Amino acid sequence: MSTVAAYAAPAAKAPLERTTIERRPVGAFDVLIEIKYAGVCHSDIHQAREGWGEAIFPMVPGHEIAGIVAEVGSGVTSYDVGDRVGVGCFVDSCRECEYCKQGLEQYCVEGNIQTYNALDKNGQPTYGGYSTHIVVDENYVLRIPDSLPLDVAAPLLCAGITTYSPLKHWNVGPGKNVAILGMGGLGHMAVKIAHGLGAEVTVLSQSLRKKDDGLKLGADHYYATSDPKTFEELAGTFDLILSSVSAPLDFGAYLSLLKTDGTLTNVGAPEEPISLNLFSLIGGRKSLAGSLIGGIAETQEMLDFCARHGIGAEIELIRADQVNEAYERVLSSDVRYRFVIDVATI
Ligand code: NAP
Ligand code: ZN
Ligand code: ZN
Repeated sequence: MSTVAAYAAPAAKAPLERTTIERRPVGAFDVLIEIKYAGVCHSDIHQAREGWGEAIFPMVPGHEIAGIVAEVGSGVTSYDVGDRVGVGCFVDSCRECEYCKQGLEQYCVEGNIQTYNALDKNGQPTYGGYSTHIVVDENYVLRIPDSLPLDVAAPLLCAGITTYSPLKHWNVGPGKNVAILGMGGLGHMAVKIAHGLGAEVTVLSQSLRKKDDGLKLGADHYYATSDPKTFEELAGTFDLILSSVSAPLDFGAYLSLLKTDGTLTNVGAPEEPISLNLFSLIGGRKSLAGSLIGGIAETQEMLDFCARHGIGAEIELIRADQVNEAYERVLSSDVRYRFVIDVATI
């Protein structure tokens, strides 16, 4: 065991504060990572405030982790000391079910073991990236390509893969007309990735406040959803809508923007349910779908894709003691476009 510094929520809804936690000894197949940067995902806030239900405290959030390998176990074959690596939303899974075998560990039938707010295979709580070090089995560690700076790479480990995976699954590419609903942490990555995949990209945001940014990030069009004319003008336009909105929405209105056979895939995880008039699906044989992060192999594929296309996150680097303020800004949609904690300040 080793004691390391961390930022933790001591209880639900309590502000995060500096503390120490224990990390397990480096096992034969483990990698010890010196964390350099940790992204702040809206999921950190949902969980630290128990918006998704009962959680484990103290909680050290953070599943967008970028750092350097500091030590490897005797059986580790993929990583060496000094390698640039990342860890995303989960740190283990059963490795044997049909989904694990297909590289879809996020859908493991036993449930993937989340990077924090979970119990590991020994029944010990997992602690995330708002800390100076983490010990992870090498099979759940990603390689960050040399051309990607670690600070802008960190958010790729959740925001990047969570948007890349559905965009690939629904075959986004040249000739496809895609709308990105909500331009926050996930949404701004979706704009960059969909543009990198060659699609025509439209942002649907609450207002036009971030229009210039959206166009710079690669969007071809930008509309405000607060303007009713948007829904008249764009009716029947899109092959795919990807929503990363963190609050409940009237999906019926957005389904009207799809072509026949179009899909609205949702990755946002609001704390309350939505209601939907099913006529909004049957009229145009439309699909309403969901998607959860991405598997390990696909996450590596995404990192390599981002490196080839020069895609990193747009970040605001913060000190650890600014994290509570950052949470409030995320909650008021005042994020441009991902807060990243400089872990040296913990
Ligand atoms: P974020 O940075 O806060 O972005 C969410 C965006 O949604 C905001 O920037 C805003 O975009 C829009 N929005 C927020 N409140 C809204 C409202 N009341 N009405 C309409 N639009 C609203 O959050 P994030 O980190 O990208 O995460 C987004 C959601 O995805 C969260 O619920 C998170 O838990 C979830 N998530 C899911 C997965 C998964 O695997 N499925 C992975 C990671 C995160 P505009 O300002 O452009 O309107
Ligand atoms: Zn996340
Ligand atoms: Zn499994």
